[in-house]
Amino acid sequence: MNAPISPIEQLHLELPDLDWITDPSRIARLSQDFAWFSPVLHRQLKDKVADAVVRPRTEDEIRVLVSACARRKLPITIRGSGTGNYGQTTPLAGGVVLDMTGYNSVCWVQPGVARAQAGIRLAELEKHTRESGQELRCLPSTYRSATLGGLFGGGFGGVGSINYGPLAAPGNVLGIRAMTIEPEPQVVELRGAEALRMHHVWGTNGLVLEIEVGLAPAHPWLETLVVFDDFDRALAFGDALAHSPGIIKREVAFFGSPVPDYLGQLEQYLPRGCHAVLSLVAQACEEPLLQLVAAHGGTVTYRKTAEEVKKSNRTLMEFTWNHTTLHALKIDKSLTYLQTSFTPGEHVRQIREMASRFAGEVLMHAEFLRGMDGRLTTSALQLVRFTTEERLDEIIALHRESGLRINNPHVFIVEDGKAGGPLPPEVIEMKKRFDPLGLLNPGKLRDWPAPAGAAP
Ligand SMILES: Cc1cc2nc3c(=O)[nH]c(=O)nc-3n(C[C@H](O)[C@H](O)[C@H](O)COP(=O)(O)OP(=O)(O)OC[C@H]3O[C@@H](n4cnc5c(N)ncnc54)[C@H](O)[C@@H]3O)c2cc1C
Repeated sequence: MNAPISPIEQLHLELPDLDWITDPSRIARLSQDFAWFSPVLHRQLKDKVADAVVRPRTEDEIRVLVSACARRKLPITIRGSGTGNYGQTTPLAGGVVLDMTGYNSVCWVQPGVARAQAGIRLAELEKHTRESGQELRCLPSTYRSATLGGLFGGGFGGVGSINYGPLAAPGNVLGIRAMTIEPEPQVVELRGAEALRMHHVWGTNGLVLEIEVGLAPAHPWLETLVVFDDFDRALAFGDALAHSPGIIKREVAFFGSPVPDYLGQLEQYLPRGCHAVLSLVAQACEEPLLQLVAAHGGTVTYRKTAEEVKKSNRTLMEFTWNHTTLHALKIDKSLTYLQTSFTPGEHVRQIREMASRFAGEVLMHAEFLRGMDGRLTTSALQLVRFTTEERLDEIIALHRESGLRINNPHVFIVEDGKAGGPLPPEVIEMKKRFDPLGLLNPGKLRDWPAPAGAAP
């Protein structure tokens, strides 16, 4: 007698024309993301693997796949390019990884707004928006490979957030088209705040097909590194530049010593032991930038025009946000990181206090940005010299006791991460509406399935 075929094999037989990835080593690779930045997550997630990966190319292919999985109650984990940091695309209960990168067209670009399919890479989308002198408002430093759907499902913001705040700030995402996970999938358009209920829930409460995003005017950006021999002066310069409304900018990052020593590819521009400020400023604003540098006693060691950046294909954007951590990990694998939100107006004092309190153990890298309320502040992605998981927990607790918000990057359950507790009822409502069978990466939401007896 033949052995019964598994639900995954049945799926394959039912949908042979889909783009299936069956090679076990590729399935294993496509089941992981950059969770290895955390020694804790690496230990917990490294062996989790999907049963199959499918890369649909059209909405119809997505629909038949979702329907066939829902009929068999097979888990689905949605994946963009897998650059997320918290095991966001790692299936906790096996099943199918639904790779969205084949679903990647631009729908349209208009003044101030564009719409595209979720699997498009952000760099590709910007190629299209630049034709009309526009660019994305906030971009993760992984923009070359990261997808629009992945930024929406798992990202926060990044380069450009100094002007427009996080992706979640009203106006940055105008609407989405999303599919329900059920035997007869429904496709629904959600606008504004309703659309944002699917944002940063790590692909657990709906499958996003298209996203409409606000655009910004594009400028030729001048990329610079300014170095200092004094921590406070470097930080004051970064803060003054971030606060200067007349200097058009896209990015300002502060690296306290010894963080610049870990940016090996920029070694020749970063004297050992220096403190540095990295910025992207409109080329037309170079003169006031240099006046500010002089007023703070800094030295410009790196200066590239937009044309030079394009020719060399090297941009300082890929040294910001969590790319700083990536470069540092190339030099010292024992490092890990934190994600800390500072208080607007208090941020300079808080950074100084934390840098001196944890000197030698928590190394300061801070990004200037606007918060949800538009006020200028900083978010830090400090490098941490990792010793034990207990000490890491202690460092996080000490930051929280000092009134700082830590978005813990060492957890893989949605409620334990940036959400910082139980999900709001409207987000749970979305889960019930778009994933009534609880098939989207089961285990990622602590409170799902809802405990027996919970309100329907
Ligand atoms: C070196 C480095 C630097 C980074 N810098 C930044 C940064 O500056 N800013 C920032 O915000 N993040 C940053 N990140 C995190 C990550 O790169 C970004 O959030 C990126 O936008 C994720 O895109 P992705 O396509 O790789 O998504 P993935 O990692 O594939 O997915 C992310 C999450 O979104 C969900 N998802 C993907 N597509 C969909 C969809 N169509 N529908 C529903 N859910 C979906 C997935 O299930 C997953 O939970 C960085 C990560 C690394 C490793």
